[in-house]
Amino acid sequence: MEDLDYQELKKGGMMRQSEKGRFSVRLHVTGGNLTSRAMGTIVHVAERFGNGGIHLTARQGIEIPNISQEDLWKVKNELSSGGVSVGVCGPTIRTITACQGCRICPYGLLDSPRLAGVIDQHFYGKPVPHKFKIGISGCANNCIKAEENDVGIKGAVEPLWDEEFCAHCGICQSVCPVKAIDADQEKKKVKIRFFQCIYCGDCIQSCPTNSMKEAQRGFLLYAGGKFGRFPSIGKRIGKLFSHDSDLIKAVGASVEFFRLNGKPKERFGGALERVGFDKFEEFLREKLEEAPDGKAA
Ligand code: SF4
Ligand code: SF4
Ligand code: SF4
Repeated sequence: MEDLDYQELKKGGMMRQSEKGRFSVRLHVTGGNLTSRAMGTIVHVAERFGNGGIHLTARQGIEIPNISQEDLWKVKNELSSGGVSVGVCGPTIRTITACQGCRICPYGLLDSPRLAGVIDQHFYGKPVPHKFKIGISGCANNCIKAEENDVGIKGAVEPLWDEEFCAHCGICQSVCPVKAIDADQEKKKVKIRFFQCIYCGDCIQSCPTNSMKEAQRGFLLYAGGKFGRFPSIGKRIGKLFSHDSDLIKAVGASVEFFRLNGKPKERFGGALERVGFDKFEEFLREKLEEAPDGKAA
């Protein structure tokens, strides 16, 4: 075990601890979800090979610390036979985080764990110039903090006013959290300013006559966010995406743009600032028009 390549081990989720000869083993968790069988395997491995401790990471991951260098491969095999795979670290696409989404949360506009699984299958562990984080919030409440990810996704619904049965009560105007609606009771008109709208759907939920309808439901995409030493908030890019396939293309285009333009140790947001968000948006538009799908190589 003298010739261990620590960088390669780290990329494969086995991270050297401060204590010599000990490793913390990162596991592959998607959207914060694990089966009870997987949990059982993790507990068993932590007790047999670690010191019984299990660490929950800041991004819904799990690490088993205090694994001896000699046991790393045994741990990997034991985890694998119990349905758990080892995670990634280094310059790769990291854990896809997600909230509970609409199957559990009453506010949910999309099934975040399902989408996390789809994105994980396409992108998890792929190489990029520097770490790349993707997070999915099921609605505008944004529990996963989409804008703090290199690519963040938020469930969204676009409202549409149907004047036929409108009672001109003004409720939609008063519930809108960003004052994007003007309900003119005299002129009997309701106007939505979409440049202000955050696609939360509150106006649709609150309308007593069902005159504020759902035009389309989908995802908003944010690019270039990060936390850490120099935090920055991602910017919203593109339109409201209605289909998984378009969203996958958009995430694929983001990864491709980063590979083409990013420098080692530079986060996606840094590359976007240096090269220009407008260039990225142009690249994204072209990719959305031409690519058959966004699967990363
Ligand atoms: S982001 Fe929305 S859907 Fe997801 S847990 Fe929070 S409130 Fe629920
Ligand atoms: S809440 Fe509904 S009924 Fe009332 S003004 Fe808005 S669209 Fe019309
Ligand atoms: S969807 Fe939300 S932000 Fe947009 S107009 Fe309706 S209430 Fe306002």
